[in-house]
Amino acid sequence: MSSPPGELVSVEAHRERILTAIDPLPAFDQPLMEAFGLASAEDVRAPVALPGFDNSAMDGYAVAAADVAAATPESPVHLPVVGEIGAGQASLLAMSPGTAVKIMTGAPVPAGADSVVPYEWTDRGVANVVISQAPELGQHVRPKGQDVAVGDVVVRSGTVLGPRQIGLLASVGRPSVRSRPRPRVVVLSTGSELREPGSSLGHDSIYDGNSYLLAAAARQAGAIAYRVGIVSDEPRAFLDALHDQLVRADLVVTTGGVSMGDYDVVKEALSPLGTVWFGGVAMQPGKPQGFGTVGEDSLPIVTLPGNPVSAYISFEQFVLPAIRKLMGRTPYTRPSADAVLTHGLRAPEGRRMFARATLSVVDGRLAVTPVGPQGSHLIGDLAESDALIVVPESVTWVEAGETVTVLPLDEEF
Ligand code: AMP
Ligand code: MG
Repeated sequence: MSSPPGELVSVEAHRERILTAIDPLPAFDQPLMEAFGLASAEDVRAPVALPGFDNSAMDGYAVAAADVAAATPESPVHLPVVGEIGAGQASLLAMSPGTAVKIMTGAPVPAGADSVVPYEWTDRGVANVVISQAPELGQHVRPKGQDVAVGDVVVRSGTVLGPRQIGLLASVGRPSVRSRPRPRVVVLSTGSELREPGSSLGHDSIYDGNSYLLAAAARQAGAIAYRVGIVSDEPRAFLDALHDQLVRADLVVTTGGVSMGDYDVVKEALSPLGTVWFGGVAMQPGKPQGFGTVGEDSLPIVTLPGNPVSAYISFEQFVLPAIRKLMGRTPYTRPSADAVLTHGLRAPEGRRMFARATLSVVDGRLAVTPVGPQGSHLIGDLAESDALIVVPESVTWVEAGETVTVLPLDEEF
């Protein structure tokens, strides 16, 4: 399964090929802290109201506003204090007109009271209280249901559960929420020249940056990343390593070995299966790509090129959307923005260019500056950049001062 050499498919077509083959992972009930960072897979309705009962917003005295309406510093109102209510210690449920009850913040306001006089407006009396300022009706009382009513949808399906949503779910008494689990993404890097960071290098070997880059990117996208590490350019070794990983993966990502070289191991090993497409995508960097399924369970596998920048940009375009779909998160692709280009930029004919760049604000407008020459092996430049400039297939030159589309890389979405 491969496209004729030279024929390129569009970025969208390749992404669509991947997304069509991937279903969101089944959702299940997960304890709140496990669901942190995941998308809710249910509309959660509040089983209780918030506040759950009329309660005091201040430490002070619960009163009927009418009883103390005339209170001023010159002619304060005196009331007998008939009890005390602390938060979580409400034995006193009702009071008579013409009395006051000492009340603490969060404690239920007794029947018969409608307002709270804060300590600051009183002499803090114990048996009797002298009130020198009148509250308005309802002042310093947080009414039941003011915030959330029973049955209100507090979290919509698809909402990513951050600290505020997790806090709200707990506040309405939910110990768990239906959500999709984090996808398990296995990252395999191929290349007989690769060595593990920390080991020594030969004259012809390099450190395996890609598996770290991609595992970190997968984790940032919300996945659980398993970095398998280096596999040599031996098809048998690659297939063995892949086979060992199938049981623990929801998605496999490989790098290297998919172009036109003599030792393109991923292509060589997977092509005979007939379930993995290899071909060119009309983009730069990142032209050689592959996608398909492997194993009895038809596990999706995205095969990325080996050049580090190509691998990263391909991850952004194809793997990130796949992870988001598995998680039930939308949108699948990064939101773009418009920015003014600060330096002219050359781009290839017939391929969409993703140029590394840095964002800044110039004269109140978002501006973008290409970083260095755009070689796909320049990982130093990649680390310096925080955005990609997207130059359409048909454009070969963009003038400084023109507005271009950018993909900010560090924004949550
Ligand atoms: P390939 O696609 O396997 O031909 O690799 C293309 C280029 O990327 C070669 O220069 C490789 O040495 C380099 N490369 C491949 N895999 C990695 C990796 N995991 N880390 C860093 N560079 C790599
Ligand atoms: Mg290679």
